[in-house]
Amino acid sequence: MKFIVVTGGVMSGLGKGITAASIGRILVDMGYSVVPIKIDPYINIDAGTMNPFQHGEVYVLKDGTEVDLDLGHYERFIEVELTGDHNITTGKIYSRVIEKERAGEYLGQTVQIIPHITDEIKRWIRDVAENKNADICLVEVGGTVGDIESMPFLEAIRQMHNEEREEDFLLVHVTLVPLDSGGEQKTKPTQHSVKELRSLGLHPDVIVGRCKRELEESTKKKISLFCDVPAEAVISAKDADDIYEVPLIFKKEGLDRYLARKLRLGRRDSNGKWESFVDMMRSAREEVTIAVVGKYIDVRDSYISIREALKIAGIHNSARVLVIWIDSEDFEDFTEIEIEADGILVPGGFGQRGVEGKMMAIKYARENDIPFLGICLGFQLSVIEFSRNVLGYKDANSTEFGETEHPVIDLLPEQKEIDRLGGTMRLGDIEITIKKGTVAHFLYGKDKISERHRHRFEVNPEYIEELESAGLVFSGYSDGGRRMEILELPSHRFFLATQFHPEFKAKPFSPSPPFMGFVRSAIQFRREVNGES
Ligand code: GLN
Repeated sequence: MKFIVVTGGVMSGLGKGITAASIGRILVDMGYSVVPIKIDPYINIDAGTMNPFQHGEVYVLKDGTEVDLDLGHYERFIEVELTGDHNITTGKIYSRVIEKERAGEYLGQTVQIIPHITDEIKRWIRDVAENKNADICLVEVGGTVGDIESMPFLEAIRQMHNEEREEDFLLVHVTLVPLDSGGEQKTKPTQHSVKELRSLGLHPDVIVGRCKRELEESTKKKISLFCDVPAEAVISAKDADDIYEVPLIFKKEGLDRYLARKLRLGRRDSNGKWESFVDMMRSAREEVTIAVVGKYIDVRDSYISIREALKIAGIHNSARVLVIWIDSEDFEDFTEIEIEADGILVPGGFGQRGVEGKMMAIKYARENDIPFLGICLGFQLSVIEFSRNVLGYKDANSTEFGETEHPVIDLLPEQKEIDRLGGTMRLGDIEITIKKGTVAHFLYGKDKISERHRHRFEVNPEYIEELESAGLVFSGYSDGGRRMEILELPSHRFFLATQFHPEFKAKPFSPSPPFMGFVRSAIQFRREVNGES
């Protein structure tokens, strides 16, 4: 087993996750199997309770674990399906150690960070790596070197470095190379952060320098000299037009060859799969505009998987998707709205804020025959909007937002019981049956699918018949027909919503069917508006 560890210095937000994912991708294209692990040095057990305003999107794995969005990058770049084990947090490590202590497993010793916490960290990493029987285990340490939280993890990494053979362990450090007012590339922050790393007993093998421009030869030389890495191991990571370009930038910098040599992987040529995907992306012939009407709009990262799913669907339709982000609360001061876009998407969410505005967007899409995709809360709000404006139940609502005469979205009885006991969500991959002859069946091309969930509320079974007789079709269901999973409006050019989150399964080489249908319909709509077809 080979280990590649990715750390970050200077500041957060340098794209460590994209760097790790891109390294994984170049290795995959060389024919190696890669198993990624993300370390999040926070005390939370997982990201389930974290606020998207603060932390970006909560990504959901197939086993239902709620994790940091970097795991989404791994799944998309490396083409793997991960489980909760691939995300280590301080909370998970400490609770395991405390559990063992209570069970008397430490035989009366004083339980300490070194060796007990660090042993547990090393064991976890090695167990996951060995279970997957991969060639290379890629470990990304979240946070910035020097943070108090990441100390035990970096100490565990230092110990692993000593324990593993030279050719089995490699450390990649990502830093920032800022430009001064005269445009000169400054290496001091990199020098300082490498010094910080060294004070912890770690020595980088590769330095990835993030910069607005490509690193100049002289900058690379300087970093090489001051940080004691060969110049060829200083990798220039200039701001890319698109994150999917990063693996190719790394290859151009020779990182693939350097990694292979240092890790003694033997020479293997890349199969060029990623290049062909990026070529497809670059050769998009037309543009299509999608309005995403949500509430965490100012924090772009909060809808990252939706953005990627749209982009991927665009690439497979030779189109570039331009996303306009609309804060649904902005609509609430108006009675009439207009959205200039070729398609409207209402994403998932929690809580009442902004829901009335989202329903205005749904009504607008429904009444004006504009392609529409609703996801999770977007699905539930489509049901509420339809109940209010088509069935005429003006007070129809979800019990998530208060008491109502017409609770068209509600908790199922067993969920009520669970919620009383402290609340938990329906999470992860669940099998769904799709009705033949529907748009959903056409898009997926099969009767049974599995998609990822993250919700508590459901379409109230008492209203299904009435909704369907008014023209709404529930084309997908689960749990023996008790839970509605997909809805569509046959009278509309494309109006589809899903209780699940299809965005979490969209991959560069396997786009998500609902997103494909939606983007295709938006392209068609744009052409019609422009009189092109
Ligand atoms: N708040 C809704 C529920 O809990 C929808 C959740 C979501 O959009 N992820 O069911």
